[in-house]
Amino acid sequence: MVQWSDLRALSAGAKATVDKMKLLFYNKNTSKMQELEVPNHKIEEAFMYWNRVLDTTKAGLPDIELGFAPAMKWECNVKYCSYYDVCGGGINGKG
Ligand code: SF4
Repeated sequence: MVQWSDLRALSAGAKATVDKMKLLFYNKNTSKMQELEVPNHKIEEAFMYWNRVLDTTKAGLPDIELGFAPAMKWECNVKYCSYYDVCGGGINGKG
């Protein structure tokens, strides 16, 4: 069983070895592939984000906070989020 501390250690270890990150696109119609290099500061942002996720979710679900849960306003919508109804309307239903 993986513990939170194991995940944190893995992410910390991975951070030391990740020096480049790319997005890989695959066109299923033509089988062409394309890479897009991700700027290094985005790697650091990703680690900081996932460490915050680990810290925040230790105690359960995070509070609704635009910029974190959800990260973007557009995703907090009945069309994109399967949990919209049980969540009480996400950021629109908050307070
Ligand atoms: S409806 Fe709730 S679970 Fe879905 S994106 Fe919004 S805050 Fe997150």
